Amino acid sequence: MGRKAMDFTTGSARFNIPTSRYRVPRDRNIQKTFSNCKLTFICGFLTVLVLRGTLGVGNLLGSQPVSEDKRVMEDIDQILREIQTDSEPEPEPEDSFALMYHVNSTIHSWNYSEAVKAINYSLGPKISNWDHLRQVWLSQNPDFPSQVSGKQRILLLTGSSPNPCDNPLGDHYLLKSTKNKIDYCRLHGIEIIHNMALVDKNFDVYWAKLPFIRRLMLSHPEVEWIWWMDNDAIFTDMAFELPFDKYKNHNLIIHGYPDLLFEQHSWIALNAGVFIIRNCQWSLDLFDAWATMGPKGIIRDLAGKFLTENLKGRPAFAADDQSALIYLLISQQDKWLSKVYIENSYYLHGFWVGLVDKYEEMMAKHHPRLGDERWPFVTHFVGCKPCGLYGDYPMEKCLNSMERALNFADNQILRLYGFGHVGLLNPKIKRVRDLTIDPLQVKEKLDMAARIIIE
Ligand code: MN
Repeated sequence: MGRKAMDFTTGSARFNIPTSRYRVPRDRNIQKTFSNCKLTFICGFLTVLVLRGTLGVGNLLGSQPVSEDKRVMEDIDQILREIQTDSEPEPEPEDSFALMYHVNSTIHSWNYSEAVKAINYSLGPKISNWDHLRQVWLSQNPDFPSQVSGKQRILLLTGSSPNPCDNPLGDHYLLKSTKNKIDYCRLHGIEIIHNMALVDKNFDVYWAKLPFIRRLMLSHPEVEWIWWMDNDAIFTDMAFELPFDKYKNHNLIIHGYPDLLFEQHSWIALNAGVFIIRNCQWSLDLFDAWATMGPKGIIRDLAGKFLTENLKGRPAFAADDQSALIYLLISQQDKWLSKVYIENSYYLHGFWVGLVDKYEEMMAKHHPRLGDERWPFVTHFVGCKPCGLYGDYPMEKCLNSMERALNFADNQILRLYGFGHVGLLNPKIKRVRDLTIDPLQVKEKLDMAARIIIE
């Protein structure tokens, strides 16, 4: 697939648009007038037929073959059927975009970029001087520096639906997942938000993070990085720290594989479930470009078809944030790529299958602060929907595996206080260190990266 075919802005993909779903009022007026004319014509015609019947065949218009009468009656039937169809109530257009969608659908010339132009959604008023505004604010508010004790200020954001889970156990695991994030953030001086608000109804489900991250950037100029983490992603290395020195010249850090991205155009080349984005103008611009496929409804549906046509392995469904980001980076490499760090030297996102069964082996052989396959930084339960009723994997397998990941992580927290889980599937804990009359000496010796030993 060439670059040109993948260009994000040209909207080269065309779709077969159903023509009957939306009608514009102007169309309807024309149709009504036409229907009225047909009705008048038929009334006249019927009168002639009745007169013919009354006065006798042949007396009025001269004799005609029976087959021709039959054909006329069929024509009348056909016209009556059409009138009936025309007079069925039309659904009201949902919004102005639906109108434009219909107008274009009649000439079959609709394409994605036209759709984007027509709908003209945005994440908010266009901001073009954020770096300057932010710098001015920081200089005027020295009590809110973007660095604290030499570390850049980070805000971790996770979120979940404002409604209870369909599966009651899902709420329990959401709580555990957020507990896990609080633990990690507390240890590393990171601020944390669990968001449940849908701030823009056009950006729901997996798109909801975009408008909210943007809001956070603008409301927290003191924050240098926003760290998005799905609620199905769990910290499993509590000692690992992000290597920010590596990211000095980058604005977006995301787990992925460049060959899958640029050679295969795979829809899983990146994982958008965990990423870190800098609070800067570049990020606001990226979000504006990224969000174009997000608005709920026709835009997201059209974009989904387009993404499925253009990304390898992508099933058919409405546009998701991950596919949209992948497509954006492939199609506009020159614009974005130099500031994107595609990370795979450690598991910023670690796919759970293949990791969760090895935790005991990891504990036997390795220690925290490695972050890679030896001791994964993040275990991400992609394809499990603990809050829903159906995922890609059996629910029991998912929940047991999450429990193991959470307790594997919790052992790294509990040992700070001298405890550990009896087993990874066991909520019970036991003492792993003898009580002492000199707790501060023990504290001095605590090493987050030491091996975890639970006899
Ligand atoms: Mn996820």
